Amino acid sequence: MSKIKVAINGYGTIGKRVADAVSLQNDMEIIGISKTRPNFEARTAALKKYNIYVPGEKTDAFKKEGIAVAGTIEEMIKAADIVVDCTPGKVGVSNKALYEKEGVKAIWQGGESKDVAPISFNAEANYETAIGADYARVVSCNTTGLCRVIYPLDQAYGVEKVRVTIVRRGGDPGDIKSGPIDALVADPVKLPSHHGPDVNTIMPHINITSAAIKAPTTFMHLHVLNIKLKKDCAADEIKSLLASRPRIRMIADGISSTAEIIELGRDTGRPRNDIWENCVFKDSVSIDDGELYLFQAIHQESDVIPENVDAIRAMTGLEKDNKKSIEKTNKAMGIGL
Ligand code: NAD
Repeated sequence: MSKIKVAINGYGTIGKRVADAVSLQNDMEIIGISKTRPNFEARTAALKKYNIYVPGEKTDAFKKEGIAVAGTIEEMIKAADIVVDCTPGKVGVSNKALYEKEGVKAIWQGGESKDVAPISFNAEANYETAIGADYARVVSCNTTGLCRVIYPLDQAYGVEKVRVTIVRRGGDPGDIKSGPIDALVADPVKLPSHHGPDVNTIMPHINITSAAIKAPTTFMHLHVLNIKLKKDCAADEIKSLLASRPRIRMIADGISSTAEIIELGRDTGRPRNDIWENCVFKDSVSIDDGELYLFQAIHQESDVIPENVDAIRAMTGLEKDNKKSIEKTNKAMGIGL
């Protein structure tokens, strides 16, 4: 069977990771990535042997830097079965006309408004809605992390309400423009933050409210979750349920910080220290006055990557069963090892 041809439009934090994850799958291939500037990421993409496509007017600038150009971004889109748009938030929507013109399927990321595509996607919670779809949006890193926990709890016990506070990383490690450097920023001051409503794009029936604070760290986001379940249960049952999920990792062994989780990623040789799974602090899982409390850390740069791979499989009809797709993606990437 021929492989599904995938193009990556926007080769930054998310795009380079999606490219590498797709390359590990045996049912899809990267036909090209796009770069707008001949910078170090373009040179690394060339070293990895990705075909580099650029805006037509930039071809000479790349050639001048000795970086081979395979063609224009339009040519890359034309040759693809599906494009994963990883351009910065609010830029991706401006590419929609091109994808429509070329009749190519497209996936956007969480920085785009929910209106960019008729489907917001999470592999565990609503894979089936994306089967055969032309357009979908993989929800943001925080929304992905919330869906992965709320969905199995709702299936097992029923969720009455969710209250979440998110301490957000100020910027990604390679990001020299974001902050704060020395402040905690209510993000936004006016409540709720967009995360609760974003969960409702996947699970509309969940009663959820969220607040977010930006902090001077680059490593991960931290969620403080308070969930009222419809049925009584013990903390140990919740721990077992969460530990059984394919993209949740229970964190113990003395780890109490995001810095140590990243160190764990380094020590275990994860590519770019990526932690694709939700990291639930095992000892934090507790029941008080009938309500569940827990801490989880979310690696903003990488948790959405396997979700993009599964979205490709659903939309192109490669696999109709979400469990099989999740298992295949996880195995190829080394998730759960
Ligand atoms: P990024 O800035 O790291 O990468 C974006 C890349 O797209 C850059 O290389 C940029 O040069 C390139 N680009 C800009 N305009 C372009 C255009 N018109 N055509 C082609 N390429 C263009 O951004 P990112 O962090 O990878 O974010 C991408 C998307 O993923 C956003 O929607 C974001 O909200 C979402 N997202 C980001 C994170 C995160 O923590 N970084 C997590 C989850 C989702």
